[in-house]
Amino acid sequence: MSHYQSDEQAPLVIARNVHKSYGENEVLKGIDLDVRPGEVVVILGPSGSGKSTFLRCINHLEDIDRGSIMVGGEQIGYVLHGSRLHKLPEKAIARQRRNIGMVFQQFNLYPHMTVLQNIVEAPVGVHKESRQAAEKYARELLEKVGLSDKANAYPRHLSGGQQQRVAIARALAIKPKLMLFDEPTSALDPELVGEVLAAMRDLAQQGLTMIVVTHEIGFAREAADRVVFMDGGYVVEQGTADEVLVNPQHPRTQAFLSRFI
Ligand code: ADP
Ligand code: MG
Repeated sequence: MSHYQSDEQAPLVIARNVHKSYGENEVLKGIDLDVRPGEVVVILGPSGSGKSTFLRCINHLEDIDRGSIMVGGEQIGYVLHGSRLHKLPEKAIARQRRNIGMVFQQFNLYPHMTVLQNIVEAPVGVHKESRQAAEKYARELLEKVGLSDKANAYPRHLSGGQQQRVAIARALAIKPKLMLFDEPTSALDPELVGEVLAAMRDLAQQGLTMIVVTHEIGFAREAADRVVFMDGGYVVEQGTADEVLVNPQHPRTQAFLSRFI
């Protein structure tokens, strides 16, 4: 659990009435969600419920059709001129994305680069930080995820769990205020899931603000300050891990969780 829960703090993420359609298919039907600084929010829900789409809207990999998403006090992707919203130029959106790290199911490290090169690629190549400073920080991150000895290894020589931990370090290298995880352990062999969840639990304890889509109920129970259950493009239910996982109120939450018992 994080140590930064205080109601006086403004939420880092404020999503209001977020709607998103693909053609005729309305995937998000009015999502509301607040995430306070330091909070770990786990999103659960069946396949197709809109979880990935919602995460992709938060860092503006998708346009939203209606509603708003604020991160760190800025509306993501848009700016208000008078009473009208205008889409921000790509450059401004890229700047907003610097505050948001994302880890996907498929870690997609650059195969021709070492672990260290993978991690410093964005800070040095894109954000023009000094290589020396970026490498120093990359080594700190590798230590955090338990891979200090792998800085010069190539991804193909690492296990899936190690590669995913590198991907986490890579996402952290831009010093994001918010981390999004989209089923980070779903592509891993079962015996490798634990090491990735342990690294994420450490980050949670250090006060990183995280939104985690996962089917790992154990992780939700141990690390989540709040659990959100999504189904059919809605937030059906949310609360503490105990409230949602032990004593779910909504029949759809109950039906979903019954699969895990
Ligand atoms: P989840 O992550 O909860 O499994 P998704 O957000 O991936 O759900 O998908 C929700 C719905 O949106 C699904 O019906 C999916 O087919 C549809 N969808 C997702 N991405 C796209 C896309 N790029 N184009 C069209 N439909 C999409
Ligand atoms: Mg998904």
